[in-house]
Amino acid sequence: MNSWRNYTEISRIAYFSMEIGLTTEIPTYSGGLGVLAGDTIKSAADLKLPLVAVTLISRKGYFRQTFNEQGWQQESPVDWRPEDLLELLPGKALVTVENRDVKVQAWMYRVKSPTGGELPVLFLDTDIPGNLPEDRKITDHLYGGDKSYRLKQEIVLGIGGARLLQILGFQVRKYHLNEGHASLLTLELLNHHRLPVEDTWDERASWDTRSVQEKCVFTTHTPVEAGHDRFTYDLVNRVMGEVIPTDLLKELGGKDELNMTMLALNLSHYVNGVAKKHGQVSQALFPGFEIHAITNGIHPFTWGSPFMMALFDKYLPGWAYEPELLVRVDNIPDREIQDAHAGAKAYLFQYIEEITGAKFDPEILTIGFARRATAYKRANMIFNDPERLKKIGAGKLQLVFAGKAHPHDDYGKKMIQEIRNQTDFFGDDLKIVYLPNYNMDVASRLIPGVDIWLNNPLRPLEASGTSGMKAALNGVPNFSVLDGWWIEGHIEGLTGWSIGPPPTETTTDVNHSDEDVKDLYNKLEKTIIPLYYKDRKGWTQVMKNAIGKNAYYFNTHVMMRRYVTEAYLR
Ligand SMILES: *Cc1c(COP(=O)(O)O)cnc(C)c1O
Repeated sequence: MNSWRNYTEISRIAYFSMEIGLTTEIPTYSGGLGVLAGDTIKSAADLKLPLVAVTLISRKGYFRQTFNEQGWQQESPVDWRPEDLLELLPGKALVTVENRDVKVQAWMYRVKSPTGGELPVLFLDTDIPGNLPEDRKITDHLYGGDKSYRLKQEIVLGIGGARLLQILGFQVRKYHLNEGHASLLTLELLNHHRLPVEDTWDERASWDTRSVQEKCVFTTHTPVEAGHDRFTYDLVNRVMGEVIPTDLLKELGGKDELNMTMLALNLSHYVNGVAKKHGQVSQALFPGFEIHAITNGIHPFTWGSPFMMALFDKYLPGWAYEPELLVRVDNIPDREIQDAHAGAKAYLFQYIEEITGAKFDPEILTIGFARRATAYKRANMIFNDPERLKKIGAGKLQLVFAGKAHPHDDYGKKMIQEIRNQTDFFGDDLKIVYLPNYNMDVASRLIPGVDIWLNNPLRPLEASGTSGMKAALNGVPNFSVLDGWWIEGHIEGLTGWSIGPPPTETTTDVNHSDEDVKDLYNKLEKTIIPLYYKDRKGWTQVMKNAIGKNAYYFNTHVMMRRYVTEAYLR
């Protein structure tokens, strides 16, 4: 394919996401949501699905994380040059921000699969001569700035994105809104789908919400009311102006505030949560809407370590495009699974030594924990009773952590600092490192190299979680609270281990922290540590089960086939 125009020849699914994580070199993601979007796009390319993705260029990235002497997170912009990696497309859209015209342009990245599949990702950009200096910064910082900045970004993403697709000649068969950030695109579609009756603002019959719904699929990712984007109508009127009549907007997006989730719910014909449990939780949050569930996945070829992938290639050729083949993992000799994992472990330990100077022991059971450092994920929970942890783990455990806290999240930063400060108490008895600047590169080295993957969120706040799926693919069993995808992937003692009580049918989960902590220590002491050190064969079987019973299913190939049959073709 030479010209972007070739992409416009067939009609496509337009996949809108505030963040997309394709590679570390394009730092336009902050965590799981963006990485999921990237993995989704890569599987779509593998499967040759007609898709075009739209996101923001985030010229300053999310941020680069370092630590000061006190272990407090420091943030700096990520330097990258879009012009080195992306191609600027002709054509500009105009959006209205604070009563001014703001120009929006798009940079294109081509995602190419070895299957021959190929599709474009458009990165929207307002850093254009002629725009006011402040408007040129709208697409600089992912999740930066205040409410007004966020609303401007969502105008660019939703309205700017929809307009630019049209200007470039893309034909769109469905719009997929990955989280509510892109909901404003529905307003643009409403304006396109006005029925040819009285062309007056207050002619309600002329607003064809039905046609817009038929075009839109909405995936919600947030399991709590407070997590959904909202804007006061004062702000909306000042920043966005009247895109559709205010009365109608209030009807669709909420009476008192513009709630982006409500707007998307009201204007989509198919809505889903990102795991079965999350579907139920969302259903309870939004009664009156039918909410389905399609469990998230990971892109197998992106997240397999080179060591494990070589083994899969040898015994299960074709696995990367048909991950279901992993179900036959038991054909691989134990010894070779162990060796592949040892390779990934050595590769991680080399990195740990390079970055922190700490020398980790390849014989010792190593626990990994890495994800965004935010309160509900409880990164510091394993340190709840340091004396007990020392007793259980001295000489038998090593811990590797990583993860960024949002720049405004002091609690998250404290949690990191607390972990970093544990090293003095544990000394050489139990080595602990906190690796800086968690990103896709660090993740792909860290996750496959540990022996178990720890996850202890406060239920039901982990809508899905995907890092555990990356672990499973690499034969790293999960040790996790029963929330998100793990409720579906967990078979106790076979695919990994649970922490805390079983999930409840009710959606209002209470805080089980005390039970969780106790169970965490007990299982480590009585089940996991003995199995690891005394039953190598038993341990290796759990590793294989993680691959054959978790990874074969929890991947974006399976997920995309479900989106096609259950959402896009409806
Ligand atoms: C996979 C991934 C995540 C998501 O991790 P969760 O445990 O699902 O929260 C976050 N950040 C990066 C860099 C990742 O690769």
